Amino acid sequence: MSDNRIPVAVLGATGNVGQRFIQLLQDHPWFRVAELVASERSAGKKFSDATVWRLGAEMPEAVRDMTVLDYSADLQSVVAFSGLPSEVAGEIETRLAANGIAVVSNTATHRMEPDVPLIIPEVNADHLAAIKTQQANRGWKGFITTNSNCSVMHLVLTLKPLQDAFGLKKVLVTTMQAVSGAGYPGVPSLDMIDNVVPYIGSEEEKMETEAMKMLGGFVDGAFNTADFVLSAHCNRVPVRDGHTECVSIELGSDATPADVIATFESFRALPQELGLPSAPARPVVVRYEDNRPQPQLDRDTERGMASVVGRVRPCPVLGLKYVLLGHNTIRGAAGAGILNAELLKAKGLLPA
Ligand code: NAP
Repeated sequence: MSDNRIPVAVLGATGNVGQRFIQLLQDHPWFRVAELVASERSAGKKFSDATVWRLGAEMPEAVRDMTVLDYSADLQSVVAFSGLPSEVAGEIETRLAANGIAVVSNTATHRMEPDVPLIIPEVNADHLAAIKTQQANRGWKGFITTNSNCSVMHLVLTLKPLQDAFGLKKVLVTTMQAVSGAGYPGVPSLDMIDNVVPYIGSEEEKMETEAMKMLGGFVDGAFNTADFVLSAHCNRVPVRDGHTECVSIELGSDATPADVIATFESFRALPQELGLPSAPARPVVVRYEDNRPQPQLDRDTERGMASVVGRVRPCPVLGLKYVLLGHNTIRGAAGAGILNAELLKAKGLLPA
């Protein structure tokens, strides 16, 4: 049977994020996994021999016998989804983009560059205009788009409707981040069991800078940063998947918790209008119980593609506070990349 779906590559295919890409892309209506890339350790092996599959259910049949490619391989795919470590991503992603591939990256390396879009389709789809600037600046046939860090992704999904409705002045966020966010094997178990680690390298800086880029504008070929202040405390906690965040906000105009809940509930944007295959029907889902959201119970809401909010209430310091939860390797990583690629296709921006 012929398969007319667009061929895609997964870079870092054996890793946490790479495996999520493969899982989420099985049976995708538009994309077909055609190439798998990992380090020299895995290259040349069958994917099933190179990989310890760590997600629920079986490794998808379609990838089991594929040979893992070396990072220097010339790829034939139209899109390369990147789950590479940031130390190696720069050179590999740049070479592929120069060669005409649409690189859709999870990695921090290129996110803050002045001609690279950092996209959440519900938030700043207009930033895709930076692709033209990037190709003109660099003489590339392809391009690089990025998605954000996993904790800021969910924070910004909830800030966007509030910014549009009320404006934002100050945001204070404290995260409790899952262990899977550190890759595999990640944090040693003896550091993690019975413990909280109050430091995640560069995470607070990423939250503070990436939010400003995504919630700012792209005007006359340049990004403007948003004009509110954000302070982040980031902690690693012994949870497998799902980042929890406690958020306090000073809005630009008065709003009651009921106003804010109504704003979250009614939030819909371009991915929902376009009916993109991975788009959640509700990007922000509100829970009304006193003790929700919780990682075990709520991380798979909308197939892991929504941010789940609860405990919306007054804050005596900044005015309003709430708790949010989001899946870090689905909406926070691979699912975000796939939704970005769906938006690129829907807008006719993928290379011919
Ligand atoms: P990981 O589990 O450690 O996986 C890393 C992957 O990269 C493996 O497939 C590894 O292949 C491959 N790799 C390493 N060096 C390579 C090289 N020189 N050339 C080609 N491939 C190479 O890490 P992860 O958690 O999936 O994270 C991947 C990226 O996504 C990171 O940049 C991370 O910051 C970002 N991210 C992660 C999350 C999350 O929640 N985990 C969320 C958002 C963003 P081998 O198996 O062959 O070594």
